[in-house]
Amino acid sequence: MTMTDTVQEQASIIDGKAFAAGLRARVGRQVAVLQEKHGLTPGLAVVLVGEDPASQVYVRSKGKHTREAGMKSEEIRLPDTATQEEVLAVVDRLNADPSIHGILVQLPLPDQVDENAVIDRIDPAKDVDGFHVINTGRLQVGLPAMAPCTPVGCMMLLKDRLGDLSGKRALVIGRSNIVGKPIAMLLLAESCTVTVAHSRTVDLAEECRRADIVVAAVGRPEMVRGDWIKPGATVIDVGVNRIDAGEGKTRLVGDVCFGEAVRVAGAITPVPGGVGPMTIACLLANTVTAACRQAGIEEPAG
Ligand code: NDP
Repeated sequence: MTMTDTVQEQASIIDGKAFAAGLRARVGRQVAVLQEKHGLTPGLAVVLVGEDPASQVYVRSKGKHTREAGMKSEEIRLPDTATQEEVLAVVDRLNADPSIHGILVQLPLPDQVDENAVIDRIDPAKDVDGFHVINTGRLQVGLPAMAPCTPVGCMMLLKDRLGDLSGKRALVIGRSNIVGKPIAMLLLAESCTVTVAHSRTVDLAEECRRADIVVAAVGRPEMVRGDWIKPGATVIDVGVNRIDAGEGKTRLVGDVCFGEAVRVAGAITPVPGGVGPMTIACLLANTVTAACRQAGIEEPAG
């Protein structure tokens, strides 16, 4: 037996942080071309209602990256007592503002504001989160659509790793409208054989063992174990869960038990540093796409 026979091979770690940095740099180059050739500066508006600490962190980060890419960034903050009419009035104003090409309303919204009504009010052309039913429907039937940012980010990482996805067995764990379902649609569009699992799935471990690609979007810390993973499979962990790390500290973990899965998978995204950074980068990319479509300009390669 040689030394290498005894050493447990490890999956390659998919570096979402580095990939996202590359994508943001590309967006920056696209913005420079749009400004120089067409006098067009893509604009993104983010609406934050209330004081949710996690949402505040996301919104600050979105604003910073938007400005760094050379785009216009507008932040609208409303108190957590804001009425639905007040939120809708902000959306109406942004819909009518020609310097704003993308509108994102940070979720969750306070109880008195109906999320669906707010998303419905966003002009589908400016819906850079891809949550409007028009965009969901267009994605479903294979028409050009604004696709949700986290799912698009997952697909970029998968295609970068695997190239052609056609014929691969893909398991998506989670069926939410913002993550699980759109990822399933995007995988199907790449000709994967897709299974969507959820809380009523019988024998999830067995479903997982058949999959060449596992996308976990559940919100349950380290639920997917190493012995659920088919050797060599590609694992995309969307989950972000804060757990107690002892001594009054917390740490972030995904929906996959990374320490176990990394010994079996062929490639795996870490948490943090995997899917997370891709979301904002894809938001910027969607805003450039939206700006070009609204101006009737072909999107520069970047
Ligand atoms: P939701 O709570 O909306 O959906 C969770 C899904 O997981 C549901 O479909 C649910 O099934 C399913 N589920 C729950 N328990 C189980 C179980 N025991 N076995 C199998 N399936 C189960 O969450 P989201 O889709 O919004 O988010 C999922 C995770 O992704 C979260 O950790 C979230 O923080 C993270 N996230 C990360 C982002 C990023 O940028 N990295 C962006 C968005 C989300 P059912 O439908 O039957 O209830």
